[in-house]
Amino acid sequence: MYIMHFYACPLCWQCGKHEGKLTVVKSQDFSCGCKKTIFNKDKKCKKENYKCKEVMQCVLCEEQFKISEEFLKQQKMKIKDG
Ligand SMILES: [Zn+2]
Ligand SMILES: [Zn+2]
Repeated sequence: MYIMHFYACPLCWQCGKHEGKLTVVKSQDFSCGCKKTIFNKDKKCKKENYKCKEVMQCVLCEEQFKISEEFLKQQKMKIKDG
């Protein structure tokens, strides 16, 4: 299947680097918004494989961004054919 859109890295695109595309990765460090009571002794969320750990990471600058509906809407880019 051909993917018709991608998510652009706001930092790279600001500098005209249009190779900066975001992919979804699971983050260990990002605060996920879960209640602290479910964190383990290393202060990491126990829900390791849950949606709460997912962030967008840029393939170019490796900056990570929190996923929100607003963010996705803003960064969604259509792939032009040709
Ligand atoms: Zn969590
Ligand atoms: Zn970037």
